[in-house]
Amino acid sequence: MFILELFKRNKECKHTKVTPDKDICYCPDCGELIENRWYITRCACCGIKLKAVIKNGNIVPDEHYCHNCGVHRFIIEQVDKINFVDINYAVLVKVPVKPHFDEVTQSWTERHIYTAPKLIRG
Ligand SMILES: [Zn+2]
Ligand SMILES: [Zn+2]
Repeated sequence: MFILELFKRNKECKHTKVTPDKDICYCPDCGELIENRWYITRCACCGIKLKAVIKNGNIVPDEHYCHNCGVHRFIIEQVDKINFVDINYAVLVKVPVKPHFDEVTQSWTERHIYTAPKLIRG
C-alpha cells in the first residue's frame, strides 16, 4: 500500500493557495516548498485507468473492482505532465519538498561561472 507519510504529517496547512497549474512553489500560508504531484491508478490486470482518490492518506481507486475485468489489484502511476484526459482520473497530492532548493540553485550558478573560461580556452 502506498502511504503518503509527508502528506499525513502536514495536517495543519492544506496549502490551498498552491494552485494545480504550478509544478512547484512556496505555499503563501505556511512558507513550505510544495510540489504538485498527480497520480492515477490503473487496474493491475488489464491496465485500464481507474479514477484515483485519497482515502486515509493512501492513493486508491474510487472503484473497488475494475469495471473492465473485475480484478481488485491496482497500480499507482505518477503523471509527469497532466493532460485534459488524465485529469479526470488523477488525484493531486501536495507534497512538501524538504531539500534546500535555494542552495542547489546557487551551486549550479557557481559551477557555470567556473567552467565558462575553460570553454573559451578550448
Ligand atoms: Zn501551506
Ligand atoms: Zn481490469
